[in-house]
Amino acid sequence: MNILEVEKLTKRYGGESVVEDLSFILEKGTATALIGPNGAGKTTSLSMLANLLSPTSGKITMEKDVSLGFLPQYPQFFPWLTAVEFTELAAKISGVEAKQARLQSIKTLEFVGLENALHKKIGSFSGGMKQRLGLAQAIVHRPNLLLLDEPISALDPTGRREIMNLLKSLQQDTTILYSTHILNDAEEMTDQLLFMREGRLIEQGSLKEVKKKHADPCIQIKFRNHTHALEFVGSHTWKCEVEENLVLIPVSK
Ligand code: ADP
Repeated sequence: MNILEVEKLTKRYGGESVVEDLSFILEKGTATALIGPNGAGKTTSLSMLANLLSPTSGKITMEKDVSLGFLPQYPQFFPWLTAVEFTELAAKISGVEAKQARLQSIKTLEFVGLENALHKKIGSFSGGMKQRLGLAQAIVHRPNLLLLDEPISALDPTGRREIMNLLKSLQQDTTILYSTHILNDAEEMTDQLLFMREGRLIEQGSLKEVKKKHADPCIQIKFRNHTHALEFVGSHTWKCEVEENLVLIPVSK
């Protein structure tokens, strides 16, 4: 059963195509990674799915009664609020009853590992804490479809693993679509991989399917200080060690 179907989704600015003919489905209870280098069109795609941006053309069909949780790449926080005040506000905005909102906020903050920071002002939070808080505000109302834009990019490897494990534990009740430029993070929990480059889907399938199809080496692309400059550093197989700032893109046939 599909919770979301995307057909030929396209976004153009002027004549410039940023997302072109994006089509995929999300089956209920699965996790999908949208993978691609900076500028591939991941944020634009997720923003359209979250109804924050109008597509130029194409169709998005969501199952009836979907409750959506969204974590933007750069969430806006109110630094003068405490974590629990902020999450409670997010819960109420998402329709949680006032009586429930406080309790649900506390439980959610505990779940994302912020139990020691419930009453601390967000202004004093580190980048990693903010990323956890962003996740908390996205899930506090218990959505059944979760869209996450680079949910773990600001975390160190231990934090990333922790959050991936949390996402994995949510997966029973929640369908998850998350973007990343780090393939390593995608591998473990993900049922479906969607590779984007220059606005287009260049490959999709389960990890097993993609690996089988691309038994040949992949192209490894290195990011240089997020300047979008790409450098080919040779051919690697899927088994290669991937560093934090590297992404593997399969060779298109
Ligand atoms: P990603 O999330 O994969 O890094 P984005 O979706 O943020 O990619 O951006 C894809 C491309 O679209 C980039 O080249 C970016 O400069 C361009 N883009 C994004 N928003 C706009 C906009 N409002 N106007 C024009 N170009 C845009």
